[in-house]
Amino acid sequence: MHRRILLGLILCCGAMAVLISVAMKTTAGDLRTVDAPSGSEFVLAQAAAPKPSQPVAVKPAATPNDGKLRIIIFGAHPDDAEYKGGGTAAKWAKLGHHVKLVSVTNGDIGHWNMAGGPLAQRRTAEAHEAAKRLGVTSQVLDIHDGELLPTLENRRLITKVIREWQADIVIAHRPWDYHPDHRYVGILVQDAAFMVTVPFFCPDTPWLKRNPAFLFSSDGFQRPYPFRADIAVSVDDVFEQKIDAIHELVSQAYEGGASGSEEFVRTQVPPENDLPARRKWLKDRWSQRQSREADRFRDTLIRLYGEERGKAVKFAEAFEICEYGRQPTPAEIRQLFPFFGE
Ligand SMILES: [Zn+2]
Repeated sequence: MHRRILLGLILCCGAMAVLISVAMKTTAGDLRTVDAPSGSEFVLAQAAAPKPSQPVAVKPAATPNDGKLRIIIFGAHPDDAEYKGGGTAAKWAKLGHHVKLVSVTNGDIGHWNMAGGPLAQRRTAEAHEAAKRLGVTSQVLDIHDGELLPTLENRRLITKVIREWQADIVIAHRPWDYHPDHRYVGILVQDAAFMVTVPFFCPDTPWLKRNPAFLFSSDGFQRPYPFRADIAVSVDDVFEQKIDAIHELVSQAYEGGASGSEEFVRTQVPPENDLPARRKWLKDRWSQRQSREADRFRDTLIRLYGEERGKAVKFAEAFEICEYGRQPTPAEIRQLFPFFGE
């Protein structure tokens, strides 16, 4: 018996030695063939003398070669990305580009009458339905609403989410906003704006060889400086689609979210069983809101669409270019936002 066990142990150890040898060869091979950015002597030095305790270089993200853009829009809560960029998202999606809407918190205190897990589940389901109406992907990160902080852990998380989507365009709140979650989404995305390209930051997730363009979604805040519309997009042709998407965000659009009340639902909003009246009520509100945006950003619309078409735009969404990340030229803006025509 003893001999058999000993033989078994020797066989096992032998197999393990072979496995370890294969693993070491694979690791060394990866280091030598790594597609390192130019001037990365550090990676080459590691290839010559790898040390197990040091981080192992990973390959950069493979560039998707379907010729389509990849866009990721962050909001703090499961409605922000839809409200701020849902129309433009639908326009990209119609052209076959890949769009993902991310809510950085799960929205679990965003209601006057319910909270916690059931609300997070409800709002996640709402966001997924809204994404279907827009023809895009959606993700709700499991961080408590009202508790988002610009920590190193969250910087890593946002960096990985952007890398995994292999984004060409990243959109987020500005870091000046009434809501702390909105502010910290702005901070976290800015914090990721360089780190997405740094190989040894989160080396388990392939880094981006090309830095995306980072943009801010519009807001009305004045300090330290007001939102500047570098890009304004007509969403006239997808406005019904955007309303269909917002219509799915029932807890917010029809129940008022954290600012709603039983009285608001009872006296202001058409009842659940009268869907046409409900949707009309929603569309009227959003027509006002989105046409105010078009008027506010009229100069930018005229600059991008030309005098005649720019003046005729009824509903608009607008974006400001963040000075971190890639700085697109005017010609590149027209490639990233292929909506303006000649
Ligand atoms: Zn929000």
